[in-house]
Parts: sequence; C-alpha cells; structure tokens
Amino acid sequence: MSEPLVIVGNGMAAARLVDELAKSALGRYAIAVIGAEPRLAYNRVLLSSVLAGETASHDIELRPADWWRDCGVTLKYGCFATEIDVGRRELKIENDESIAFSKLVLATGSTPLRLNVPGAELAGVHTFRDSRDVDLLLTLAAQKKRVVVVGGGLLGLEAAYGLAKAGAPVTLIHLMDRLMERQLDAPAAELLKSLVERKGVKVLLNANTACIHGETRVEAIELSDGRRIDADAVIFAAGIRPNVALAKDAGISVNRGIVVDDVLQTGAPGIFALGECAEHRGICYGLVEPAYEQARVLARHLAGRAAAYEGSVVATNLKVSGVSVFSAGDFMGAEGTEAIVLNDASGGTYKKLVISGGRLTGAVLVGDVGDALWYLELIRKQQPIARIRTDMMFGRSLALPAEAA
Ligand SMILES: Cc1cc2nc3c(=O)[nH]c(=O)nc-3n(C[C@H](O)[C@H](O)[C@H](O)COP(=O)(O)OP(=O)(O)OC[C@H]3O[C@@H](n4cnc5c(N)ncnc54)[C@H](O)[C@@H]3O)c2cc1C
Repeated sequence: MSEPLVIVGNGMAAARLVDELAKSALGRYAIAVIGAEPRLAYNRVLLSSVLAGETASHDIELRPADWWRDCGVTLKYGCFATEIDVGRRELKIENDESIAFSKLVLATGSTPLRLNVPGAELAGVHTFRDSRDVDLLLTLAAQKKRVVVVGGGLLGLEAAYGLAKAGAPVTLIHLMDRLMERQLDAPAAELLKSLVERKGVKVLLNANTACIHGETRVEAIELSDGRRIDADAVIFAAGIRPNVALAKDAGISVNRGIVVDDVLQTGAPGIFALGECAEHRGICYGLVEPAYEQARVLARHLAGRAAAYEGSVVATNLKVSGVSVFSAGDFMGAEGTEAIVLNDASGGTYKKLVISGGRLTGAVLVGDVGDALWYLELIRKQQPIARIRTDMMFGRSLALPAEAA
C-alpha cells in the first residue's frame, strides 16, 4: 500500500516536488497537497508580468488540473492547515478535518513584511505576493489611484513598474542610497534608476517611512526628513518573513526559517521543509532556483536514493521593470581585486567584471545580459582567465570564437 505523504502549501516548491516525485517514486506515496490559495499552483515569478499586462493570469498555472489527477495527487486548495500533531501523525486543516500522514512536507513559503509605522493598518495599505494582490493592484491602477511603493528591491521595482504600466501615478521610495543594493553596485543601480524613471516611475532614495496619514484610508505618506507624498494607496514591498508558525507551534525547531538538514528533514523525523520557509545551514533563500534544487534532493531522498543538498550558489538574473539585470559573486570588488568596466549610460548598458588572482570572481550586468550564464560558469568553476581577459568583456563569441562557433 502507498505511504501517505502530505505536502502543506501549493506553491512553486510543492509543485516541483510533486513533479520530481512523479518521476522518481511513482506509486510509492499517496500524495495529498493542502494549499491556502484558492487556485492551482502557479508561477509566482510571473505575477509581475500579469500586473504589467504582459501575461494573462490563467496562463501562469504550472500544471493543468488533469496533470495533478494523472499523478494521483489529492489536491485541496483554498484550504489552510492549522496544526501538526507530531505524535499522532496528523495534520489538522481549518474546517476541523484531519489528514493522517506518514511523511509531511512543509512548503509554506513566506509572508510580506508590513513596516511597523503608524498608519500601517489603514485601508489602502497592501502587499504584493499572490494573485489576489495582483487583482487588487490592477483595480487601483484602473482607477488611476496615486500609489506609493515602499521598497526598492526586486519586488518593489516590479510592483512599481506594473502599476505605472497599468496607468497609475507611482512613486517608489527606498531607504538606501541606491536601488537593489544587495545585487548591484552604485553605477549599475544608477543606470537601473534612470531606466525605471523612463518608464514613468518616480524614484526617491534615502527615503525612510515615518508614518502613513489618513482617517480611515491612506491619504499620504510622510518620510522621516519631513517630506510628504500624497497617496491613495501604499504597497509594502520591503522584505519577506518565512511562514514558520505551523512548525513552531508543533515544537519543531525554527530560527528565521524552519531548520532543516542536508536531506531537508526538520528536527522531527519524517517531517521535511523546503522552499522559502526552510532554513538550511543558516540560510533562508528567497528565490526559485534553490527551492527547485531542494525539491530534487528531497524527491531523491523520499525515493530511497542517496542525496544531499549542500546549499545553492545564487546569482541574480532577472528582468526588473522590463530591464535585464544580472549579478553574481563578489560584484562589489573586495580590496585587492581589479575591475574591467564598460559604462554606456545613454545606451542603457553597464558591465563590470571583477577579477582576483587571475580568475573571474564577480560580475554585474545591466541591459545586455546575453553572456550572463557564461560569466556565472567562469565564476563557479574558477578557471584561470589570462587567455581571454582582453576580450572577455565583449562576450563568449569574441573571447572564445572557435569554441562558440
Ligand atoms: C511578484 C514576485 C516576483 C518574484 N520574482 C522572482 C524572480 O524573478 N526570481 C526568483 O527566483 N524568485 C522570484 N520571486 C520569489 C519566488 O516566487 C519564491 O521564491 C517562490 O515562489 C518560493 O516558492 P515556495 O513554494 O517556497 O513559496 P510560495 O510559492 O509562496 O508557496 C507557498 C504556498 O504555501 C501556502 N501556505 C502557507 N501557509 C499555509 C498553510 N498553513 N496551509 C496551507 N497553505 C499554506 C501559501 O498560500 C502559498 O501558496 C518572486 C516573488 C514574487 C511575489
């Protein structure tokens, strides 16, 4: 008889895990997926495209309903899991139902942070995480509401770009002196800012939110330097917090995320966690690629094969507000490193390659990211680059013409 395996969360990590299990452990488990969102798992990354009107919401589903049926998965979506009874090996869901499990996987993702400032509870303050948020933001844009987006990282930029493209007057405010400061150096961030401004978004840097004004609804946002921006809505895009409550309440060890070992097992035998809710070797990843790598390892482990997750080398390779952006490794350039830089601000291209000890150790690209994966491979493999150093900046086909042909 198949072993009951229950997955909590119907997001990107859960869908990839079922995909991997369907390949490697077909028939071994009777799988049930319990998901809070009222729709089939979808590609969350593409919510930005839905907001920008470039993709239809129904086109972002990861798998159609009959695929889940054919895999023999029992899907309960629009359904919130409330409690894990570790001893009785039961998961409780919101309408008092319980599901027995032999193995349990937590794939509960994250929740957007709301800044702890006066007025944060007013009507008109929103976040950007799921398809219901996108529906709401599109309504704001259709009504030409004045929107302030708080946070100049990937999510804030995507929200601001999508809203501006959909017709809303948008101001993006960011605490730091440059956008995406964890992924970009100053010239790259400056170029990104000017490209984003060309798309109709007003960007304010060094902008610390002091409070949100309004009687019952948002009327304005005030910065700590006294600046005031009139607004009908505020979108918080200032970070995420892993969803750990289910695990924590069950006595399973959590730090920032749910603590897992190299087979993604939590402190409770037979209970696993992966994706944004998991913390592995002290790191909670906020990107899709690590979640997919974890899904591969966990599926192998659940299939009874040897597997170990040793962490992910993450690179940023994104289209931000319609602008291609890539960074990896030591892109700031630590002491003793050298940098080769190409900066064409009016052409919309910036490239920086950081070299240390005759090897490529970091890169930042804005605009032209055609060779991003090649640079990433050079960084990961740490190959000597003396032979290609002069032409490397101009891409693989010039640096390695014979090989690329
Ligand atoms: C707009 C946007 C753009 C992004 N762009 C990028 C990008 O370009 N590149 C990139 O790498 N990453 C991007 N990300 C991040 C990426 O989407 C996440 O890293 C990824 O979705 C994580 O997958 P996950 O399965 O861990 O979490 P999620 O996809 O969030 O899935 C978790 C699911 O669990 C459900 N859940 C939570 N608690 C419970 C419960 N108690 N009971 C039942 N269900 C529950 C949630 O409702 C949710 O559906 C973006 C995210 C957003 C929001």
